[in-house]
Amino acid sequence: MMTFALSKGRIFDEALPLLKSAGISPLESPESSRKLILATNRPDLRLLIVRASDVPTYVQYGAADLGIAGADVLAEQGSEGLVQPVDLGIARCRMSVAVPESLDYQAIVQRGARIRVATKYVQIAKAHFAAKGMHIDLIKLYGSMELAPLVGLADVIVDLVSTGGTLKANGLKEVEKISEVSARLIINQAALKTRPEQLRPLMESLARAAGRG
Ligand code: ADP
Ligand code: MG
Repeated sequence: MMTFALSKGRIFDEALPLLKSAGISPLESPESSRKLILATNRPDLRLLIVRASDVPTYVQYGAADLGIAGADVLAEQGSEGLVQPVDLGIARCRMSVAVPESLDYQAIVQRGARIRVATKYVQIAKAHFAAKGMHIDLIKLYGSMELAPLVGLADVIVDLVSTGGTLKANGLKEVEKISEVSARLIINQAALKTRPEQLRPLMESLARAAGRG
């Protein structure tokens, strides 16, 4: 049996066509079912539905053999014990710094002023501002980062942006791109070593489905 961890929502929706072309169809939809373990058309493969930021943890500990995780989550949490053989090219967006439209970010950077940064991505934000030689106070949030500068909780946010629509709707602008983000196939390193005959064909068919084989 192979166990494949992924999150519902964006990643599941965009992974579904790749799974289909690799010959994998879940027997139920995670949106309509409350089950957290979904059977597939393949008796040797089941899906685990977990929180996006929990996918690497399940695969690192071997509770899942493989999974799909955003590059944002992997950068934030590290990828010890994982191999990342395929960039699936789905759930594309970028990690950016955003500020209120009226704020002159470059002036703040040049002045070397200390800024308050609200984000879910504490490690990524720390590394980014340290590399710029900027001093920051970090405020950890779990969602709706766009709100923080509007109510004086922070000066800037670090968050994922795709169209920029949410930023715009909240009077914010993107001022710096930190990195490009897409979802990666991740595999437990030990499982890949001990059961390559099981995991390699699946990895290869997903790479082909993503146009990367
Ligand atoms: P959660 O709300 O549990 O953090 P999301 O479904 O919002 O989960 O995000 C899951 C993953 O989808 C993220 O880790 C990221 O890789 C990707 N993602 C998030 N926001 C966007 C976006 N705006 N555009 C494209 N991909 C995104
Ligand atoms: Mg979200």
